[in-house]
Amino acid sequence: MMVRMKLEGGSAISVYRCAGPNCGIVKSSTDRWWLMWTSFTDLKVPVLYLCPWDETIAEREGTLHVCGERCVQKLQSQFMGNVRENQLKRLGK
Ligand SMILES: [Zn+2]
Repeated sequence: MMVRMKLEGGSAISVYRCAGPNCGIVKSSTDRWWLMWTSFTDLKVPVLYLCPWDETIAEREGTLHVCGERCVQKLQSQFMGNVRENQLKRLGK
């Protein structure tokens, strides 16, 4: 989650909070975080993307900001669970 904060003098900074379940720590400028997002490919299958921190990608809508490996793993497992659930729904089971 990204929050824009207005500073005195009118400039703005972005504050990032980890998207990991039960985490929510705030990124400091020196932390080496990760970025994750999901997207549908041409084949219409959901794909989970993971990449090292990049300021441009971090500001894109739908990007998840993740503090470390543990939170990445939790979000990956959430993603896989959702995919399974949707597959089962589609099969009507
Ligand atoms: Zn985290």
